[in-house]
Amino acid sequence: MSFEMEVIDSVHVTLANSDHPQDEWLWCIFCERFFQARDLRVDYLGNRQGCAFCGCAGFDCAIFRWDTFRDDDPEWPATTAGLHRGLRYPGPGLCD
Ligand SMILES: [Zn+2]
Repeated sequence: MSFEMEVIDSVHVTLANSDHPQDEWLWCIFCERFFQARDLRVDYLGNRQGCAFCGCAGFDCAIFRWDTFRDDDPEWPATTAGLHRGLRYPGPGLCD
């Protein structure tokens, strides 16, 4: 399984297996903001898969689990306790 497929699977699997999927924290790679699944935007097909803050394409390319890129990054919030709706990743942008 490629790294990409692993990431794609993890958002869907996380939400599908969660007891409280609306409460799961996600992160958008375009606007770099954290938000919970309940804030996902409904897309043109009626699926709740879009970022709450920008017009990105949503699941499968831009929305990831909140900790997908955390790894060893000291700037990344350590737990979901420090997250709030719309919080922007404090470190340098991934595209900078
Ligand atoms: Zn976004």
